[in-house]
Amino acid sequence: MLNLRSKSGPVPLGELLKRECVKGERVRDREKCELVYGEWAQSKKGEDFTLIKPDCERVPGDPLSTFSVYAIFDGHNGSQAAIYSKENLLSNILSAIPPNLSRDEWLGALPRALVSGFVKTDKDFLSQGHISGTTVTFVIIDGLVITVGSVGDSRAVLEAEGSLYYLSADHRLDENKEEVERVTASGGDVGRLNVVGSTQIGPLRCWPGGLCLSRSIGDRDVGEFIVPVPHVKQVKLSSTGGRLILCSDGVWDALTSEMAFNFSRPLPPEAAANKVVKEAVHVKGLRDDTTCIVVDIIPLEKLTPTIPPPPKKQGIGVFKHMFKIKKTSETSSSLHDVEYHEPDIVEEIYEEGSACLARRLQTEYPIRNIFKLFICAICQMELKPTEGVSIQSEASRCGSGKLRPWDGPFLCRECQVKREAMEGKRHRRGSSSRNSSSSGD
Ligand SMILES: [Zn+2]
Repeated sequence: MLNLRSKSGPVPLGELLKRECVKGERVRDREKCELVYGEWAQSKKGEDFTLIKPDCERVPGDPLSTFSVYAIFDGHNGSQAAIYSKENLLSNILSAIPPNLSRDEWLGALPRALVSGFVKTDKDFLSQGHISGTTVTFVIIDGLVITVGSVGDSRAVLEAEGSLYYLSADHRLDENKEEVERVTASGGDVGRLNVVGSTQIGPLRCWPGGLCLSRSIGDRDVGEFIVPVPHVKQVKLSSTGGRLILCSDGVWDALTSEMAFNFSRPLPPEAAANKVVKEAVHVKGLRDDTTCIVVDIIPLEKLTPTIPPPPKKQGIGVFKHMFKIKKTSETSSSLHDVEYHEPDIVEEIYEEGSACLARRLQTEYPIRNIFKLFICAICQMELKPTEGVSIQSEASRCGSGKLRPWDGPFLCRECQVKREAMEGKRHRRGSSSRNSSSSGD
């Protein structure tokens, strides 16, 4: 209940509201950051593309609602998929976020919107008939909160508080057993290239097609179990900020993350990006497109260490040991049970990498009630009440057995067909085998 009296007498309601606003503004101020960025690239095939948009607005026309986007698209078998994703992915992600959300709700909606946006971009691109594909590492920075959606092997690494944090997944078949199992279970043939005398050479690839990656946007001629569903990770930096390095595999094939940070640590972002690319080319020669974006996140005002952060509302990944999170109970893994004794550290807010859409777009989503019910969760098309297919219709496949088939969210028929193909229920005809030549990486 509001106490309208203070020691010096009654306080007008208008004044109280003003004070509340000022308090709210201060909370936001503590997260205001300056972002300084630089990029550098050396091109071999001309298939790496970057997207840098430092001044996006959550609320159009409101400069207080700015967020920034940094992304790398590493194309293969042509550059159309990379260019198409660069031009369309951001708007597809944003169109999957309902309007009129608070900042916290908007940040909570991002992981799901990334999934919808990636899948819609893939579906729309494939309908154009191109065969190329692309990796995507897509970074959204709002205040101290970094959200990364990734498919493929372009990596985003954060250095903060003297530690490195991997914010993207590695979807190279050679590096990811879980993904090999998923692709195989969905009907893909994973193996190395057969040459004369049955000798197997090169990296693990998925056949038909011969792609080394388990996830990408595009790749029409590879099985549909090479899915565009992104790994998503959301973290909140401490008040000391941090440095983010995003690179295509041209860099990571030559340098470890530690090397990239060590080479670039004393330098400002553009010089740092230049140094990383130069060192990578120095080590391996220019064998691939080699691209680097460096972003320094510099908080304008330090957090007061005694103020605990507000309780988190959104959904929850498993805390990874690499995050230095202190919990009240060692057995607790739910955010509802977690209290932060020492808030000024890097916090993991969300992490999920499953390829299963029922799990990624599930009804337990914390702000589901503000989504329109009869809208396709992927392409955002309006549905008539009888048209939608519930995403839970076969949820048991993903271990979400408690959800009922008549619960939303819903997919339109086309997106349902896409989903079934991604989950291996609609096998495509195999067009090439392991004995034919590979179609790149
Ligand atoms: Zn749809």
